[in-house]
Amino acid sequence: MKAFVLKSYSSKPQLSNIPIPTPTRDEVLVKVAYCGVNQADLKIFSQNYGNSISFPLTMGSEIVGTLNGEKRVAIHPYFACGKCTYCQKGASIFCKTPWKLFGVHKNGGYAQYVAVPKKSIIPIPSSLSFPDACALTLSAGTAFRMVTVLADIKKGDWVAVTAAASGVGIYSTQLAKYMGGNVIVLAGDDKKLGVLKSFGIKHLINYQSANFQAKIMDITGDHGIDTLIDTVGGVLFESLLPLVSKEGTTVFCGATAGKDIRINMADMYYRQKKLIGSSGFTSAELRNIFHLVVKNKVKPVIDSIFPIEELPKAWDRLRKRQVFGKILIKI
Ligand SMILES: [Zn+2]
Repeated sequence: MKAFVLKSYSSKPQLSNIPIPTPTRDEVLVKVAYCGVNQADLKIFSQNYGNSISFPLTMGSEIVGTLNGEKRVAIHPYFACGKCTYCQKGASIFCKTPWKLFGVHKNGGYAQYVAVPKKSIIPIPSSLSFPDACALTLSAGTAFRMVTVLADIKKGDWVAVTAAASGVGIYSTQLAKYMGGNVIVLAGDDKKLGVLKSFGIKHLINYQSANFQAKIMDITGDHGIDTLIDTVGGVLFESLLPLVSKEGTTVFCGATAGKDIRINMADMYYRQKKLIGSSGFTSAELRNIFHLVVKNKVKPVIDSIFPIEELPKAWDRLRKRQVFGKILIKI
């Protein structure tokens, strides 16, 4: 079969001909239709995963395809150890070891076939296309858990979403609106803010501008943010925490802009604010977002689609950071 294979950190990934994988007793073989291009690929190129990777590796984390020649399925992009006390009782989202990712810790979807554990399979509703399902498998699942499961958004609440033009940000924005929130989006690029406007968002803030905090207080009539959804951490996160209102909730899932931040503990306990970390999502949560898309409550966002032969061009596009939505590879 055709597959993009990386033989070592120092080599270039090559479109190669390799044997079709043989699934183990707990696995099934999926014929890949589309695979989403993920930041994890770029992290592999910069050797971020150290020696947790075994080569040769087929990358590709966000996979949809066909099972047994007919059933259309998505693959839950994360897999857990399956052995710890949490996994044993069916709560693998709390697995004791960090979740692992297809295309990083196990061969992924830049190939015609992939062998995956049976429990990673999620059926795709008949009215959801392969590209749309593929665009949702990772970012939308993450956003769904943060916005609809962990946050407690009530109609009319002020909800601020950082990095709103990112994968998780686009879906968090749409879900916060669906939950009835008054959404304020923050991004560092006016062009991207312009696209977010087309999703019906009225309050758009470029956080590169001076006094963006004053703008938020102005928009909310000095009330502050009821729910903050953050995916980046760092200085921006630090500067937004004091703007969260009394009894407000912050849900965060990443720290690409910095892990070490300062928190004013007195502000947090006097004003009884909640700070909730989030990681991954369950298969049921991903199924729920599929259904919201089918009901036209959330729109999948696709940046572009490349054939597998042009995967290096897709990586170049991702590196340039001008992407809005998911880049897909058609297998
Ligand atoms: Zn486990």
